[in-house]
Amino acid sequence: MSHALQGVKCTVKNCKFNDNGTLCTASAIEVNVDDGGNSARQSRETNCRTFQA
Ligand code: SF4
Repeated sequence: MSHALQGVKCTVKNCKFNDNGTLCTASAIEVNVDDGGNSARQSRETNCRTFQA
């Protein structure tokens, strides 16, 4: 497994890039607005596009 992304905390434990329910080991991540576009009002309206089960 590659090194964790510095400064990225992620609790999505079932993602194949997740380590220990806290770290992301992807080489980079892409984050998007849930419904498309480029304007979110709250953090819960954003999501990690890099996720893989
Ligand atoms: S790719 Fe996204 S969902 Fe997966 S561990 Fe990294 S930040 Fe979390």
